[in-house]
Amino acid sequence: MEGKMLVLSAPSGAGKTTLVTHLLNTRDDLAFSISATTRSPRGNEMHGVDYYFMSVDEFKKHIENGDFVEYEEVYPGRFYGTLKSEVERIYKDGKIAVFDIDVQGGKTIKATYAKQSLAVFIQPPSIDELKARLLARGTDSMEEIDIRIDKAAEELTMSMHFDFVLVNDDLGASMKTLDAIVSNFIES
Ligand code: 5GP
Repeated sequence: MEGKMLVLSAPSGAGKTTLVTHLLNTRDDLAFSISATTRSPRGNEMHGVDYYFMSVDEFKKHIENGDFVEYEEVYPGRFYGTLKSEVERIYKDGKIAVFDIDVQGGKTIKATYAKQSLAVFIQPPSIDELKARLLARGTDSMEEIDIRIDKAAEELTMSMHFDFVLVNDDLGASMKTLDAIVSNFIES
């Protein structure tokens, strides 16, 4: 796999999806890498747009066949992964692949594709702020929020494996910083 890879990883609730959406809306040389997952669609998520939704059996077949660039069991029993065919599809279109993946997955991509990737760690200002954002988002149960907070605390220790740590306490400022580092990466 030869093209450029832009990886954005963060603990859940750090503002990653907003920043990924901003990048995709402002640059037409980028394309979102649609991951495979075994979780069910939420709200108006669509197969082939937000994720490739599949059964655990189907996902495991892809693991056996070596079809993934990387994959993780992000939550117990819930698998997420990037299919090689997806990245190839993006490169065929002449675009740069953008990965919205968990911290462990981001670390794996950076370690595997060191030269061609830019890995950005989006850091929430604090664990308390993260909890407040997850509560305000209102999409997860209290139990789910506690699981995400525990995972976040662990993920914050992994930021040193990334090229850039972006502390997202002011969304407008974060967007500007991200625009600058992405332009620099693409033009280099
Ligand atoms: P959600 O269920 O909220 O859409 O995603 C849960 C977490 O899984 C997020 O941190 C998301 O970035 C991550 N994720 C999505 N796709 C992938 C993937 O292909 N690989 C990995 N490692 N994580 C992913």
